Amino acid sequence: MPDPSLHTILSALPGGYLLLDPALRVRFVTQRFELLLQCPPLACGQTLPAQLLPGAVLQQLQQPSPQAWAWQHFHHGTLLDWLLTPLSDGLLLSVREDRQAFRTLVENSPDIISRYDADLVCLFVNSALARYSSLPPLYHVGLGIDDRGLPGSMVDAMRHARQQVLHSGQPYTFETEANLPEQHLVFEARLLPEYDDSGMLQSLLCIERDITHQHANRLWQADENRLLEMLANDRPLPEVMDWTCRMMDSHLPGAMNSIMLLQPDGEHLQVAAGPGLPEEYKASIDGIAIGEGVGSCGTCATRGEAVIVSDVLHDPLWAAYTGLLQQFPLRACWSHPILAHDGRVLGTFATYFSEPRSPQDDELNIIRRTSHLMAIAIQQERRASQLFQLATQDALTGLTNRRHFMELAGKAFQEARQSGRPLSLLMLDLDHFKSINDRFGHEAGDTVLQLFARLLVDGLRGSDLICRMGGEEFAALLPGAGHEEAVAAAQRICKAVSGSSVLHQEQQIDITVSIGVCSLDGQQMALGDLIRQADKALYQAKHEGRNRVCLALGDS
Ligand code: GH3
Ligand code: MG
Ligand code: MG
Repeated sequence: MPDPSLHTILSALPGGYLLLDPALRVRFVTQRFELLLQCPPLACGQTLPAQLLPGAVLQQLQQPSPQAWAWQHFHHGTLLDWLLTPLSDGLLLSVREDRQAFRTLVENSPDIISRYDADLVCLFVNSALARYSSLPPLYHVGLGIDDRGLPGSMVDAMRHARQQVLHSGQPYTFETEANLPEQHLVFEARLLPEYDDSGMLQSLLCIERDITHQHANRLWQADENRLLEMLANDRPLPEVMDWTCRMMDSHLPGAMNSIMLLQPDGEHLQVAAGPGLPEEYKASIDGIAIGEGVGSCGTCATRGEAVIVSDVLHDPLWAAYTGLLQQFPLRACWSHPILAHDGRVLGTFATYFSEPRSPQDDELNIIRRTSHLMAIAIQQERRASQLFQLATQDALTGLTNRRHFMELAGKAFQEARQSGRPLSLLMLDLDHFKSINDRFGHEAGDTVLQLFARLLVDGLRGSDLICRMGGEEFAALLPGAGHEEAVAAAQRICKAVSGSSVLHQEQQIDITVSIGVCSLDGQQMALGDLIRQADKALYQAKHEGRNRVCLALGDS
């Protein structure tokens, strides 16, 4: 039987442990090892069943003198880390007492293993501590928990854990965090009571595992999920990009993240987000023309690949910007392209630091993932706006279509009724348009419709709502305009139309328009009535000889 301490420690460690003699007979195995390999219980002294271990591990074991060795292998869907630690002949001999094996295992463990008396005076700590403390492990032995230079948060957590263990007599698992100058560390710790033969508490055993990486991954995944939720909920792109930059600022300590979008001309970058960057800096790079040697982002957008500049003051890509860099405390800039699914550059995701700095693999990984998510967000937004355009715009003239106009007119009408402000509607219909088609062809007719739409846009205000109702019929809603103003606008349009013409295959096409006007000047009227009245006035204008404006009197 193994030493009770060995048993306690090995069973408490997160790994599974198997101790073999040189003839590959089982000397000792922990339950967790059997569990991880999903094998039946192994008896002490039995020869190791060959099929139990992955081939590569077995091969290593069967070598005349196996070396220390590490390997990863998927087993039943779980990634297992194999560590092979050969014990020397001398050690093997002393394994009979198990103490030596205990030492070997403890000293080779990547976890910090320490033992305390009941008042948390350190009795032992393994060499894993050396990775986190500048003081040698031996320094800690004999010192109380307050005297070892540990971060306050860890001391508090240990005190609390001790209370729990003393109170319950059971092992206690907890997480502790340490804010060191260079890094933020997170440990998962387990404090176990150790009893002597008479059942008296002899010592406390503590096993601490560095889970900084997993912890950061957990936080990252939570944020990534939040971002995906924002995309699924169609949050506005500027909000998504701003949030993403802030999120990345928190995952990359000291970083200032920003997003630039490539303009439709494919040649200029516009700052879209960068909450951590100085405003003046953003203003000075906004609209920059891309190209080789245009800092990290300009070069990245041209190449379509990541440009990592660890020190901007000593990199030729930034040589043209030394003046700019004197004004701002920026020293590193890593730019990653935001690529569409077909490889087109949509923009750049840039990470700045105020100190020279190169990225680590995991940092590059999250930057890559973020850039990919931003590509999805941008493309999603562009598709949505294309769909919106298709659904709301007339393809020939680019004006609002009838369905969307009715929606917007309904809102404008409600507002006008509530505020008591005037509102006018113009219904416009080109004169003898059928004969234009007949004489000059349908294509010429289309050109006339496009010209007329331009004249309408030019002749009205930006706040007016202009629509192609269908065919050669148009409507314009003028919020804030009473009947006098509306008639004046209609007459202006009428005149502009009759004064312009379309040249088609060297033939001049003259056009005129008839317009009916109706105004909501504080009258009680429904939107449908307003449209009907304006239509009636239009009919009257046609009847009276076309190329004119008629005002509905609003009585019926
Ligand atoms: P009126 O002065 O009484 O309005 O006469 P009109 O010829 O303008 O009116 P009518 O309603 O008889 O003819 C409208 C014509 O507009 C008929 C149709 O072929 C044409 N039209 C409708 N939509 C389009 C289009 O998108 N392009 C072209 N080229 N013609 C169109
Ligand atoms: Mg017509
Ligand atoms: Mg018509």
